[in-house]
Formats: sequence, structure tokens, C-alpha cells
Amino acid sequence: MAKVRSLSDLPPAFCPFPWLEQSFDIHGNLQLCSRSKLVRGESGETLNVKDSPDPNSLWNCSSMRKIRQQMLCQPQLPEECRRCSEFEALGQHSKRTSFMRAYPTWAPDPQELIQSTDATGSTNLSPSRFELRVSNLCQAKCVTCSAEYSSSLILDHLELQKRDPVAFRLVRPVYEQVPKPSQNWATASGYYDWLYQNLGKVKSLYFSGGEPLLVKPNTELIDTCIASGLSRNIELTYDTNALLISEAWLRRWDHFDRVNIRISVDGIGDKYNYIRFPGPWSSFERAAQLLAAWKNPRATVMAQITVHLLNLLDLSEIFSWFWELFGSQVNIRSKTHWKIIRDPVCLSLIHAPEATVELARSRVADLATSLDADARKRYLDQMLGVFELVRTQSEPRPEYQEDAVRLLSGLDLVRQTNWRETFPELSRLLAP
Ligand code: SF4
Repeated sequence: MAKVRSLSDLPPAFCPFPWLEQSFDIHGNLQLCSRSKLVRGESGETLNVKDSPDPNSLWNCSSMRKIRQQMLCQPQLPEECRRCSEFEALGQHSKRTSFMRAYPTWAPDPQELIQSTDATGSTNLSPSRFELRVSNLCQAKCVTCSAEYSSSLILDHLELQKRDPVAFRLVRPVYEQVPKPSQNWATASGYYDWLYQNLGKVKSLYFSGGEPLLVKPNTELIDTCIASGLSRNIELTYDTNALLISEAWLRRWDHFDRVNIRISVDGIGDKYNYIRFPGPWSSFERAAQLLAAWKNPRATVMAQITVHLLNLLDLSEIFSWFWELFGSQVNIRSKTHWKIIRDPVCLSLIHAPEATVELARSRVADLATSLDADARKRYLDQMLGVFELVRTQSEPRPEYQEDAVRLLSGLDLVRQTNWRETFPELSRLLAP
């Protein structure tokens, strides 16, 4: 079982991730964890796994050493950790504090991590948790996503560019082109091979994407863990759209020490099909029902709810669906994770009309009163904290609402959808 570890007897800027996890973004660029900014070299360059002869050299590179030194000797978290700093400044839980509250049994004690570090910031421990966000291969075309993270969006966005170039300029930008969805950096760099050679040291694998269940080398890695018997020492975490979850996947996952399945759900029924185009909701719901009936005491299912303008007014509906399926479940542990997007800018909560955000906040607060204190803390307090963060950063402007209408109307042209019919309440609140 995970244990609570206090940060109070540790250096104030300490976070265990730079001692435990080797993490890369979808291009293979080094980061500290999935929430941090990229780790950069002396001249501000990205540090890509494909350019490193051996992943070990990245683990104790000068930038990682400097970050560890700062975490041990300075009062402030490094700049790479701004998202954690922002939450903590508001008195909210960050990824760092949440991790300490459920400190995994496979991880060495924080004092051991600190002891492993020499004066230069180098650690003699090897990474034991690996983030594999290896490819943009995905079958979903979410409105809030970009071609950088979903290969299926490429054609839709090209079509949008042809039919409505103004709307096309409003989609979430591509910051760095992913070469080919069928390829991935972990294959190209030999990172999977390196993992196979070091499988005995692996304690936790975190798969994200794209859609990680579509990536064949990910599946081969899982099957090798099972065949070698090492799966019993390994924790798995997946960020998945869930559409491919089957009985066969549950049987695979049963071999592992612990399993965290984080399913993306941003709407219910037709709203799901619109936001996570083309769905279908029926496949997602079938997968969610399979998970809810799963008898695995070592598994946790988390609803990952990405909050944006399209679903802002439906958060209670989304949560109630999840609660009905998982809330009273005795077979499987469940949680929620709420997150906001910054891009596409016009769909971000930061720029949403204040009155609409307040209406959404009050609906979630009302719903929270219907839960007992424990359930409220587990499922809804984080979202109420996110509303606080949005309040401090809020920058509503009418032009963003006009942009939202233009973007959605452009996508409707390409997809033969109708956002005003699917989201009538939002449609009434936004400009014509
Ligand atoms: S402080 Fe936050 S952002 Fe930085 S490494 Fe830790 S969890 Fe990641």
C-alpha cells in the first residue's frame, strides 16, 4: 500500500521525480515529469533521447544535476516546475504534494534519494519509473487536441485549412512536428531495447500518447514483463481514451503489481461524440462498464476530465455518470482528475466569460454538498481548487468567444456536426 510522506522534514523544494522518473514528451525531449516544462541544456536547447548514445547519460546530465542541487539547496522549486508552484501558492495540492501523499512502496525513502546525491547533483540510483508517451498514433479527433498528439486529426485539420483558413488558425497549434505516427521515438532511439536490458530495475511504467493501447511495441513490452515474471514487481499507469479496452487487456493487467487506468471522459452521449469525435460513446461506455465490473483489488480507475468551454456547464452531468458507475463500486477503487487546457486559447477556461465560469463553479459546489466529506475530498475538491486557479488567472475577452464560435462552426463544416444543437445551453450563452 502507498504511504503518506511528509514534505515538512525534507528540503522545501524537494520533489522525488528527478530521482525516480525518466520522462520524455511526445517527441522524446527530456522533462522532469508529465507536468514539468522541458529540461534544457546549457544553451537552452532541448535534450532529446534520440541524440543521446545512452539514456543513462541524460539521467545525470548537467541540467538534471543542477535541478537536483536546486531542489536540495534552494527554497524555491525550479522554473521547470512552475505548475506545481502555482498550485502550491494557492494552498492547493500539486502533483508533487499528491505524490508524497500516496508515496509508492516501490520507491526508496525520500531520505535515501537525498543520500544518493553527491555535491554535483549526480545520483547513484537508477530511474525506476518511465514515462512512455512515445507516439501520436490515435484514432480519436478531440476538438481540444492537435495533430501533434493525434495522428487522426491531421486530415481533418488539412480539410479545415482548405475550407476555413480563419478557423484553422484557431485550432491547438502544432509546436513540433511528429515524424510519422507509425514510428515512435522509443523505437527510433533504441529506448525500448535499453528498457528490455534493464527490466529488472523497472518499478513503474507510465503509458500515454496518442493512444498507448494502439502502439504495438508498448504491448510487446507488457507481454515481455508478463513472460519474464517481472510484472509482479511493476506498477502500470495508462492515460487512455479507453476505446480499445477489452477483457484481454484486463487479463494482461491482472499480472501486474498495481494498475492505474486513467480514462478520458469530457462529455456524455452525443456531447462525448462531439468533443472526442467521432467517439463512439457506446464503445467508451462498454469499456467503462468492463472496468467497473473488474475484480482486481490492485487496480484503480481514474476519470480524467479535461475541462474547457464546451463541457464547462456539464461537469456535474459528467461526474454524476462516473459516480453512478464507480462511486458505489466495491470491486474497484476510483478517483477523478480534473485538468484545464490552455490551447486552443479560445476554448480555455482562462478566457471563458466569468459568469459562465461562476455558473459552472456553483453547479460543482452544489453537487459537492450532496456527497459525504470523504467522497467530496476524493472526487470534487480538486476541481473546486482548479476554479480558484482559473479565478486568479482569468482573462475573459469577447473576441475569444467569437473565435470559439468560428472554430466550432469551421469544424462542423468539415465533420457534418452541429455544435449549437449538441450544446444548446452554451450556444445561448455565446454570441451568435
Ligand atoms: S515539482 Fe512538480 S513539476 Fe516538478 S518534477 Fe515534481 S511533480 Fe514534476
